[in-house]
Amino acid sequence: MQVMNIKKFSFTYHGVEHPSLRDITLPIKKNKITALIGPSGCGKSTLLRSMNRIHDLYPGNKYDGKIELLNQVNGSMQNILDIKKENEFIELRQRVGMIFQKPTPFPMSTFDNVAYGLKISGLKNKTELADRVEQALKDGALWKEVHDRLGKSAMGLSGGQQQRLCIARAVAVKPEVLLFDEPTSALDPISTGAIEELLVELKKDISICIVTHNMQQASRISDYTAFMYLGDLVEYDKTENIFLNPKENRTEDYITGRFG
Ligand code: ADP
Ligand code: MG
Repeated sequence: MQVMNIKKFSFTYHGVEHPSLRDITLPIKKNKITALIGPSGCGKSTLLRSMNRIHDLYPGNKYDGKIELLNQVNGSMQNILDIKKENEFIELRQRVGMIFQKPTPFPMSTFDNVAYGLKISGLKNKTELADRVEQALKDGALWKEVHDRLGKSAMGLSGGQQQRLCIARAVAVKPEVLLFDEPTSALDPISTGAIEELLVELKKDISICIVTHNMQQASRISDYTAFMYLGDLVEYDKTENIFLNPKENRTEDYITGRFG
């Protein structure tokens, strides 16, 4: 089952003549990890940032085609490119959360980082808030390391811990989809391993799309892989097929390290 459906999607940045993405069609499957791979500048981040309209923090970009999001209550698909109202954007970004390359904790305590989004979504009861923060930190595989220092600044955590805090913060508001843009490229191998394990655990509840330039990472953790090149989606398939038996020459050249 598909939780998002990208259909004949093109994207042009404000003030730029040519589209950065052309005619992309890609499903995001429910409770699976989909990896986006391809050389630098091929449009991976642009596509990911379209999937929760985070581009719209800057106006004037041009979208064509559709990006549909499953309504898990009634089974219908909503085209998120139709969204115009501020409250709908807030709801979209709760349902489709994003984690960036550099950990982005807020300059406040670990507890408040996770409580922040919950408070915005209207949760006021102190006990319930504490319970939800604890659960989110457990879901982010961080609780054991921070439970005795919840009130201390999150800026004192290591890079890997900060990234897991960002994941906990996103998970706290119960998203349906999480988008990760090279979430481990600033981390050491041990922290990277912890995040990879976490993603595989999270997909039981959340559908995941991850941009990675690390092909070992894509083949370790993803179920499906899309190879992009110069704004086009060249090939999409089960991850094992992309890495063991690609159909397109350009895919094979990239995964065998002939360019990129
Ligand atoms: P990737 O994540 O695969 O490295 P990007 O999505 O960042 O690629 O970039 C795709 C293309 O869009 C590149 O040609 C890049 O120069 C261009 N681009 C990215 N961000 C902007 C922007 N804010 N304004 C104009 N062009 C941009
Ligand atoms: Mg990028």
